Amino acid sequence: MQWSVRRQSSWVQLAGHQGNFQLSEGGEVLKRFSEVEAVCLQALMADPLRPFVPQYHGSVTKGGESYIRLKDLLSGLKNPVIMDCKMGVRTYQEEELTKAHTKPTLRTDMYQKMVKVDPTAPTVEEHKQRGVTKWRYLQWRDNTSSTATLGFRIECIMVRDTRDFKKMLTPAQVTEALLSFTKSQLHILVSHLLQALDEALKESPFFKAHEVIGSSLLFVHDRTSQASIWMIDFGKTTPSPSSVQLRHDVPWAEGNREDGYLIGLLSGGSVCGQGTIN
Ligand code: ATP
Ligand code: MG
Ligand code: MG
Repeated sequence: MQWSVRRQSSWVQLAGHQGNFQLSEGGEVLKRFSEVEAVCLQALMADPLRPFVPQYHGSVTKGGESYIRLKDLLSGLKNPVIMDCKMGVRTYQEEELTKAHTKPTLRTDMYQKMVKVDPTAPTVEEHKQRGVTKWRYLQWRDNTSSTATLGFRIECIMVRDTRDFKKMLTPAQVTEALLSFTKSQLHILVSHLLQALDEALKESPFFKAHEVIGSSLLFVHDRTSQASIWMIDFGKTTPSPSSVQLRHDVPWAEGNREDGYLIGLLSGGSVCGQGTIN
């Protein structure tokens, strides 16, 4: 009982759609089922990246809904500090772009989200239609954050700090926020973890063969010398066409399928490196 209360209080969902998650017993969380994500997790359990991916326990149906069963990465941690960094130079799939070109449906909800953040962001036309295409919205979000320039963005950091991290655009802003997360000696540890992840990514058949879009690195520490990095969120991670050899470290141009994942890892690592010098 005491254990479950403690565990309940440590559960935090930083980003993502509310309602997509449910707490479960036995140190697991349940995430709303997605075939794309389940297939990725299954493959990752037999890949060199496995140590960086929450343990996947298959799926379960509860109250008529299907869920993916994942290890609760916060289980057992007291007051953990968590950071969700969405990786890559873009957060939309090429298919979304193609769809937007051929069948540009207007989204009122996305228009409203856009206006809420910046009333001047929509064009005159978009204001008139009170709608934007999904692609336009996602691209706007990528360009008003560090996604397009640094290859990753901080979705959220759970500390007492309540700044809007998503709108951080300049390298200086992102560096400052990352260093505030990795302060004390932790940045050295994080830097080592990123290096280990980089090595695993280079070894990984999964990584070679997948376009990794909208996936995050979840940084977790509990203010002791324990820190870990986890790859999460594979709902938009799809096998690349067999004719395409992805590099992950070159800019994206429509049609080349590149996600820029390693661009983000490199710039994140160099930020942590700066922390070492200071
Ligand atoms: P998005 O809007 O980014 O597509 P999503 O609904 O696909 O989000 P995730 O990004 O997978 O959801 O997760 C959202 C948040 O939930 C993460 O930022 C993290 O705080 C928390 N989370 C996800 N998986 C786990 C886990 N296995 N253990 C602990 N916390 C988790
Ligand atoms: Mg996410
Ligand atoms: Mg997702």
